[in-house]
Amino acid sequence: MLSQLRQIVEQVGDAKSLTAAMDTLVQQTKLTMKVDCCSIFITDPNVQELNLMASEGLASTAVGTIRLKFGEGIVGLVHQKGEPLNLANVSDHPHYKYLPASQEELFNSFLGTPIIHKRQVLGVLVVQQKKPRLFSELEESFLVTLAMHLASVLASSGLRLELDKLNQPASSIHLQGCPASSGIAIAEAYVVRPILTLAEVNIEKSYSSSKEILLFEMIVKKCSDEFSNLALTLKEQLSKEAFALFDIYSHVLKDKTFLNAIRGQINEAHLTASSAIKVVAESYIKQFEAMTDRYLSERASEIRDVAQRLLYHLTLQVEDDLNLPDKLILVASEVTLSMLASIPTEKLQGIVSVHGGVSSHVAILARALGIPAVMGLSLSLDNINRKPLIIDGYAGCIILFPDQPLVTHYQVLLEEENELKNLVELGKSKDAVTLDGQRISILLNTGLNANQHGAVAGHFDGIGLYRSELPFMLTDSFPTELDQTESYGKLLEQYSEFPVTMRTLDVGGDKQLSYFPIVEENPFLGWRGIRLTLDHPEIFLVQIRAMLSASLKHRNLRIMLPMISAIEEVHEAKRLITQAWKEIKYEFGLTPDDFPLPAVGVMIEVPSSIFIIPQLAQCVDFISIGSNDLIQYLLAIDRNNSRVASLFDSYHPAVVQCLKLIIDNSRSFDLEVSICGELAGDPIGALILLGLGYNKLSMNANNMGKIKYLINAVPLHELENCCEQALKANSGTEIRAIFVNYLDRKGLGGFTRAGK
Ligand code: PEP
Ligand code: MG
Repeated sequence: MLSQLRQIVEQVGDAKSLTAAMDTLVQQTKLTMKVDCCSIFITDPNVQELNLMASEGLASTAVGTIRLKFGEGIVGLVHQKGEPLNLANVSDHPHYKYLPASQEELFNSFLGTPIIHKRQVLGVLVVQQKKPRLFSELEESFLVTLAMHLASVLASSGLRLELDKLNQPASSIHLQGCPASSGIAIAEAYVVRPILTLAEVNIEKSYSSSKEILLFEMIVKKCSDEFSNLALTLKEQLSKEAFALFDIYSHVLKDKTFLNAIRGQINEAHLTASSAIKVVAESYIKQFEAMTDRYLSERASEIRDVAQRLLYHLTLQVEDDLNLPDKLILVASEVTLSMLASIPTEKLQGIVSVHGGVSSHVAILARALGIPAVMGLSLSLDNINRKPLIIDGYAGCIILFPDQPLVTHYQVLLEEENELKNLVELGKSKDAVTLDGQRISILLNTGLNANQHGAVAGHFDGIGLYRSELPFMLTDSFPTELDQTESYGKLLEQYSEFPVTMRTLDVGGDKQLSYFPIVEENPFLGWRGIRLTLDHPEIFLVQIRAMLSASLKHRNLRIMLPMISAIEEVHEAKRLITQAWKEIKYEFGLTPDDFPLPAVGVMIEVPSSIFIIPQLAQCVDFISIGSNDLIQYLLAIDRNNSRVASLFDSYHPAVVQCLKLIIDNSRSFDLEVSICGELAGDPIGALILLGLGYNKLSMNANNMGKIKYLINAVPLHELENCCEQALKANSGTEIRAIFVNYLDRKGLGGFTRAGK
């Protein structure tokens, strides 16, 4: 039955429209399960009804006309209970309701299963048979599996039903997605679809290979220029992973094997340029998709996107800039970097991507650019191009066809948001001191764009985290000691008056080096950070030697070790650091007084490290909390998986209790503690940390203004009171509410939601 199931799923997936998909599903299911009837009912939450949308077996006139109230009849019961119902004689059931229009009196046995997506019942899938009998367990699991597949088809085209029916709905439609980047945007929806998909290109022979080659070289150059121009325009705003994305795209466009394969298809197989791109790209995509390693299989989407962009320039069916609206919200099934590249940044107000989650490539970019974005929602792109749209990036929702009162409401919120931004901007240069006089150290997280923090220069107290792996991710082989010394030297020179905390190489997990790929079943629980570098002391020693030599001039280096889970790792790392320190001292003829060993600290990212703080205090100078990983490991939620993104709760009581444990332990052992995970740059996260007693927060440059403004506007003792309540709370929602209410009372609600 498995192969039949796969066949049905494939046919449904290939259907051109939702109606065709549902028709195919009922026809094929009826045939495969050898039943007399198969039907699909879809919920209409607006009127609390279930509509019969497709049937093979019920009267054809019933499709589109039968509507059941929620809870009405057996189908209503399946919907209400959210579980399958298997009945040999349906009419004996007390909930049975006879529907004359359906001619269902012919059928006795009934098997219905809810169609559920993300905990919401979207409809009911039913099979019926004349012969009275109970359906087997195998049949039941077959139908349940089909309903799961149908749920994703429905979810990805959810709105189509509504829009097809109404064409231009009279009232606003609210849709919920993931809050990928905060902020409000009000503008026209600008729907971008791939102009000619790879699959749609017909394989054709060319008339002139030389002309096609010329054309191909031209568009390769055009695409490369486009990516480098965009990277250049966004350089100031880009940080860490965001910048690396452009590099990946440029690499594909410079990949000689890939380009030569296309040239070969043009010159030797005499294909047109577009056919050659299709043939080569599809074969690459197939190979990458077949790989079990997630990192490598993801390369398939980069190849597809670049090939798509090449085709886009070849077919030239794009509106040029002049025809674009002045302000637009980019809407696409899957927003790609190349789509972003085609829209002038001054016109781009927001981003809506049907697919993707908070940590997808585009979400990272949107945050780096400060553009509101919502991702992962059930939205059909039909009928919405150039229609009015509002994005609320705080709540993660969008409003289509907003009515005038809603537009006015959001315009007011947008103005308030802008006022707040201006205020925050003004306060950037002030010290971070609470209203009752507690000075808070504000440190900077940096990596690739280490020398591009002009906007906040002079407004922070040091570098709290330099992610040294990011430059490693942009080279084709391990950088040499000399290269590393030079780049660390620049950083230490630039911030010579401040302490600069450099983290040793933290690769593995989702951070991969193209020249040292790691293939693992469970990469986040595998060979990451210090585990990898201790197994390769030659890499670790070169990096430490480079850091130490670079620090000779200003002596402002601090070394931090990532992913520590046991004390032995610290001992071993310190042994190697001491070895490198002795070597450098000897090579430069220095005494320990001239050149003391720099401070060495560890990141608290793995829960086990919290419980060895007493031992850590004996051998390190400081600890810094990596809340991104700590939360991931504490809650067992992959920080990059959009399916579980809504469970990644930074205010979970366990997180707050852990933070309390860490600060209490550090204080009793007189150990310096700071935090460099995203929590420190999050308004509520920062308040929780202050209330618990933390006074060193390290964050990215974009968040600095906001957090300083907040610190300057609140007294510490009030945050301590909020934290007392938070430590007794039962859920992250309760903890969030404590701080949201507090900020509202202080007139600072605009930091957590739209408006002031
Ligand atoms: C963290 O885990 O919180 C952290 C700062 O490190 P990274 O995000 O680089 O893993
Ligand atoms: Mg980390």
